[in-house]
Amino acid sequence: MPSAPIALRDAEAALLDHREYIGRDLAARLVALEAEHLPELLSLAHRVRLAWMGPAVEVESIISAKTGGCPEDCVFCSQSARYHTDVVREPMLPAAQLVELARRTRALGGTEFCIVVAVRGPDERMIRAVIEATLAIRAEVDIEVAASLGILKAGQAERLAAAGVHRYNHNLEAGPRFFPRICTTHSFEDRVETCRRVTAAGMELCSGGIFGMGETWDDRLDLAFVLRDLGVHEIPCNFLNPRPGTPLDGAELLPPLEALRCVAVFRCVNPEAVLRYAGGREVVLRDLQAYGMLAGANGIIVGDYLTTLGRSAETDLAMLADLRMPIAVRPLTGTRGRTEAAIVAS
Ligand code: SF4
Repeated sequence: MPSAPIALRDAEAALLDHREYIGRDLAARLVALEAEHLPELLSLAHRVRLAWMGPAVEVESIISAKTGGCPEDCVFCSQSARYHTDVVREPMLPAAQLVELARRTRALGGTEFCIVVAVRGPDERMIRAVIEATLAIRAEVDIEVAASLGILKAGQAERLAAAGVHRYNHNLEAGPRFFPRICTTHSFEDRVETCRRVTAAGMELCSGGIFGMGETWDDRLDLAFVLRDLGVHEIPCNFLNPRPGTPLDGAELLPPLEALRCVAVFRCVNPEAVLRYAGGREVVLRDLQAYGMLAGANGIIVGDYLTTLGRSAETDLAMLADLRMPIAVRPLTGTRGRTEAAIVAS
């Protein structure tokens, strides 16, 4: 039997034997592995996930608490007011309804409930509404609350953290060089600044991207390493599901095996993050969805996404049961502190 390529052996030694982060050069060598070695890369990513994060899978639901009408121009997004899409604008849901939806998420085994709104950033009224909902959910449901409210101004992150929002989602979406091609109304640096505000306020940072928007592997690695440098706690891996009416309408779907390589490489670069399987996996991976859970993912969004339908939560939970993957009873943290793991192998 031929031996594994040197890149795989180097990555295994760094990540599993020495528990070191890998550097950019080694990550690029993993990306360049021939297709015949993809199963070995997926296997390595799965073992890295088990070694650094354990076997449990974090289950989360997201709820669009205010839908559509966003003034920004993100080309993948059907919630932008600039495009003619089938998204129906909805005002902010009341706190009582959010409590009920959080209760349902808990009943499915979810440990985190994320309140998402489609805005550039929250105004005072919205911050107050989210704080009210967060306090109500925490008082009535045994679940952690996360929020995704766009670009935060000074002081807003601290107020959300004080109300009990434990994790804040703000996706970088793409690497810095590619970002101007997907959004012109705010910058990559605007997004990074909000990520920094989140961690400075003591909330866990949830930030990821969308694969399949026309970016190169260099762009993907840029994103993976910026996220690691930001100390990201959770990375949602979304796959472009081109929405009718947006500028990316009609874009080709990412091939399933390339999507799996994205998951595996992101796991190898970010061994301590919760890698969450998110939007678009149904259309991009189709019958290969379970492979993503064997390629480094250890989180999953169950139920519907913000503007598209996911498959049923029961189907995803049955998949986890078939894979013998336990559902985390509390949100996951890495098994080792980031400072200890700051050595980098290239
Ligand atoms: S800021 Fe968010 S909601 Fe608004 S268009 Fe961009 S991705 Fe969509």
